[in-house]
This record gives sequence, structure tokens and C-alpha cells, in this order.
Amino acid sequence: MNVIKLIDKLYQENSLAKNEIIYILNNIKNAEIDYLCEKAVITRKKYYDNKVFIRGLIEFTNYCKNDCYYCGIRRSNRNISRYRLNLDEIMSCVDLGYKLGYKTFVLQGGEDNYFTDDKIIEIVKSIKNKYNDCAITLSIGEKSYDSYKKFFDAGADRYLLRHETATKDHYEKLHPKNLKLSNRINCLKNLKDIGYQVGAGFMIDSPYQSNENLAEDLIFIKELNPEMVGIGPFISHHDTIFKDEPTGSLEKSIIILALTRLLLPSALIPATTALGTINPKGREAGLNAGCNVVMPNLSPTNVRSKYALYDNKICTGDEAAECRKCIEKRINMAGYILDTSRGDNINWNRPL
Ligand code: SF4
Repeated sequence: MNVIKLIDKLYQENSLAKNEIIYILNNIKNAEIDYLCEKAVITRKKYYDNKVFIRGLIEFTNYCKNDCYYCGIRRSNRNISRYRLNLDEIMSCVDLGYKLGYKTFVLQGGEDNYFTDDKIIEIVKSIKNKYNDCAITLSIGEKSYDSYKKFFDAGADRYLLRHETATKDHYEKLHPKNLKLSNRINCLKNLKDIGYQVGAGFMIDSPYQSNENLAEDLIFIKELNPEMVGIGPFISHHDTIFKDEPTGSLEKSIIILALTRLLLPSALIPATTALGTINPKGREAGLNAGCNVVMPNLSPTNVRSKYALYDNKICTGDEAAECRKCIEKRINMAGYILDTSRGDNINWNRPL
């Protein structure tokens, strides 16, 4: 096998076998990474030109009933101060975001039972009634088919649920026993079935992760065919058992992002905040590896640092207007244009 030949094959066919992906991950060198990124950028331009879509992130609760071992807001962390935004506070974030040109709002939180289905529906409907030209993305974890369906019928368009790793024993090393990979995959399939634009995703260099695990993640997303894929480097949180684990590498993140672009050419792929946290130019590097989305924070600044999934998260003190300006400048400097439309996946139509 030869890395360049495999990249060419992937570019032409948008598909590779698991052993071919592992071969690339084990053998790719600097010049080949540049070549891979070049192909990823050509591919994203074919589908989305040089547009980068912008999403306003509202982290509305940091309560969570789960205890994922890597997560700073997991249930058993007693050292963080918990908060919930009420409907008025959420709407203030949306109002501000709308004024700044956002047409997608991502409502993200831990799995917080306080927010019953009815409360989520009320939030979704309140946003849609006021701004019906906007898309709503939910990122609130594992729910039943019926709950997902109710949120969709209320107007939610997209749902982010990272699978974190597609390998069962790796999943079990990152999560307590009550959390099952099979359930997570089932949730993703239900979301697809209902008609959401679905986002799966995973961390790079999470504890115990091998190149084989990463290849399985890529094969998994190829099969699931999500409309969005969130990928970011692992960054430890000081109040977790993984506190001393090394930070994920920018280089490997870039390789996986570019491979993802070539496997799923029309996907919406964010240049994540985690990328910007491990390197000041990390998000720009993501854009140059095929990413086409950014998600600046719209949460009130007084709660931002409390939504700490990992340590040293950037942009926790910046006002929303500043984040918006800063991100636009970065996008332009990287040679792209910020696009303020809803930014749906071009292959998605809301089912009637
Ligand atoms: S990763 Fe998500 S589900 Fe797991 S503890 Fe953190 S917020 Fe909760």
C-alpha cells in the first residue's frame, strides 16, 4: 500500500476499507498530510464553495445525570458550580444572536431531568415562533424515540449526539456501566429515522484510543452517513480520572478531519473550540482540512466558565459580539467567507 495512492482512491471514491484507513494513520508523513488536506479542501469547495457557516451556541444547563469519565460537568464532580438558564435567559441569548446575524441556535446541555420534554418543547417553540427563519439544533443527549419525535415536531431541525467511540470496549473504558454504546447508536439511528440532520462525532487521542479505534469511528460514520460530524482533540479536565492524560494532537485531529471530509463530502464539519484551545490557530487549521462550520458561544459570560467539559476552554470571557467579530476575522484570514444563512446540509430536506 501507498499513502498517496490511498488518498487518491479516497478522493475519487469517498470510501476506504478499515485496513486502508489504518495504513494511512500508521504511515502518513508531513507532505502527505498537506496533500490530504488539499484534497479535503477541494472537496468541501465542490459542495459549499468557500462558505463557513456560523452557529450560535447556548449552553443552557451544566447539570448532568451521567458520569462520563472524561467530562468536567459529570454528575460526581462536586467542585463546579451548577447553573440552568430559564426561558427568558435563553431567549435573551437568541435575541442577541439574531441581531448579530445568527440563523442557527445550538441548545446544548448535560442530560438534565429538570428540562422535561415539555420544557424543551416550550423552548423550541418559543424560538421558532419568534424567528421562523432560524434552525434549531439540540444537543441534550440520549432520549427515547418519542421524545426526539416530539422535539422534531415542535420545530427542532438538527440533533448533535457524539458517539465518542464506535468500539465497544473502548466505549466501556470511557463511560460507566449504565451507558451503553448500543443505546447511543440506537439513538443516532432513531434521530436519522425521524428526519433530523444528525451529528455524530468523537474525540481524537482520548485515553486508550488506538488507530484501529479511529478507523472504526470513520467506518461507523461512513455507514451512518450523518449530516454533521463533530470531531475535536481530547483535552483533560482536572476533576476527572483522566486529569493527567495528554492532550490530543493537532496533527492527528487535522488528519481525521480531512479523512472525514473525503468520506462524507457534503457533511457539515465544525472547526471546534477544542481545536482552538489546543492551538491558537487550531480552528484555522481545521478550516484548511475541510471544516466548514464554526460555533461561537452565545451563552451569558457569567456562566461560560461553568460549562467546562475540559480545562482552559477559550473564549469564556468574551462578549458574544466580540466572538462574532473575532471568528469572522479568522475565517477571512484563512481565505473563507462567513455565511450567515441557516447552513443546512445540502442533501437534507425537512420531511413533510
Ligand atoms: S459527556 Fe455529556 S452526558 Fe457525559 S457527563 Fe458530560 S455532559 Fe453528561
